[in-house]
Amino acid sequence: MDLKKTIRTIPDFPKPGIMFRDVTTLIKDYEAFNEAVEQMYNIVKDKKIDAVAGIESRGFVFGAPLALKLGVGFVLVRKKGKLPGETIKQEYIKEYGPDIIEIHKDAISQNQNVLLVDDLIATGGTMKAAVDLVEKMGGKVASILFVVDLPDLGGKELLKDYDVHTLVEFEGD
Ligand code: AMP
Repeated sequence: MDLKKTIRTIPDFPKPGIMFRDVTTLIKDYEAFNEAVEQMYNIVKDKKIDAVAGIESRGFVFGAPLALKLGVGFVLVRKKGKLPGETIKQEYIKEYGPDIIEIHKDAISQNQNVLLVDDLIATGGTMKAAVDLVEKMGGKVASILFVVDLPDLGGKELLKDYDVHTLVEFEGD
């Protein structure tokens, strides 16, 4: 199955010049969604993973079923101001400007092996911020998974010290 074909491209969203790779068309297709989660699962199934952390919001969509398949819990990495409990924050610069992500202070414990998940890597800034949060809490980043890579933006370089996997690539962004 060609997962790439199920991802829709919307030009100039959310601002001119951005080719938005829209995974909602993949997710609404059961076969494609199942295939994506299955592929992610097969990449990490033999690793020691104690928790899956997904980045708001499309990282939740892929991360949560993956956590269930792996038999571990799921942790939310959210945009600023959304989590109700005490949090740790991390500022970062993304493709569209500066932002802050947060995680609950008690979400990850010392030496836990954490699998990080998001839908897409562009500059890598968002995921690097999530990595920093996990490490600040004493967790270890076991692996990092994305559905989509935009290789021309070179985001994987920012994560070169980690075990990073992507399922499909869109070149020319
Ligand atoms: P970055 O921090 O630059 O790697 O940006 C990654 C985050 O922004 C992910 O959460 C993506 O969902 C979103 N994102 C950035 N660029 C795009 C794009 N061209 N199409 C779809 N989502 C994007």
